[in-house]
Amino acid sequence: MAMLIRFLLFAAIAWYGYRLVRKLLDKQASLPPTSPTTEKSPEAMLACAYCQVHIPVGESTQSRGKVFCCEAHRDSYFRENPPQD
Ligand SMILES: [Zn+2]
Repeated sequence: MAMLIRFLLFAAIAWYGYRLVRKLLDKQASLPPTSPTTEKSPEAMLACAYCQVHIPVGESTQSRGKVFCCEAHRDSYFRENPPQD
């Protein structure tokens, strides 16, 4: 009898493991083909007019048609390249 219980227990664990693996594989297969490491949707990248570092549009500072990575670079840029108007 003990053998039967042990066998059933093993079968249950094996079944559970099989279900878990299937679930993980299904989850992986249902993901879009694009890289699963990126959580956010891809955003356009723009180069800072001052240091040329590429930054996402959402994190950029824009002024007078120029794009900057931070306000310090915006200020530095316009100090070195004063607007003509
Ligand atoms: Zn910059």
